[in-house]
Amino acid sequence: MKIICVGRNYVDHAKELNNPVPTEPLLFMKPSTALLNNNKPFYHPEWSENIHYEAEVVLRICKNGKYIQPEFADTYFDQVSLGIDFTARDIQDRCKAKGHPWEIAKAFDHSAVIGPFISKLEIDPSSIHFQLERNGQVVQDGQTRDMIFSFADLIVYMSQRFTLQVGDFIYTGTPAGVGKVEIGDELVGRLEGREMFRIQVK
Ligand code: ZN
Repeated sequence: MKIICVGRNYVDHAKELNNPVPTEPLLFMKPSTALLNNNKPFYHPEWSENIHYEAEVVLRICKNGKYIQPEFADTYFDQVSLGIDFTARDIQDRCKAKGHPWEIAKAFDHSAVIGPFISKLEIDPSSIHFQLERNGQVVQDGQTRDMIFSFADLIVYMSQRFTLQVGDFIYTGTPAGVGKVEIGDELVGRLEGREMFRIQVK
């Protein structure tokens, strides 16, 4: 399986990092070894001094597809979850300044927290409210209505480049409020009020 992620899919987040608002999706990938599930702790890597949390709605692909047509795109995912795209912001900034790829800042082990999946039939995928709490304070509060590129837009664009396969995950971008994690933090994610994960940073 593969994990395809979207950068800058919420205007307020693009602005908080002084990035331009994109006119087409900005994609990157993580390998399967990036996954961190079942509320296992996140061990802060020693090679970064600025790991950021980015809470994101995650889609699970349920059919293989290539060049998926817009009118069918929503039938290619069946379940949604909430995750964190952990990002080594200091390393990413260094890569960006040199014009280098970002993989080492994004695709490292356990950089992709994932909660349990719920059927998309249980919610309205076009309007999902999600929150991230850090040590009991809400630091991110998102609504999928505010995405620049909808789930269908993303599936169409991605599938023109990468064949989507059953079991792939799509991280759909983070809203404003990203920030640094510290050892000892507790991160709690909620989707439509349900607790989806509770992660200790060690
Ligand atoms: Zn992200």
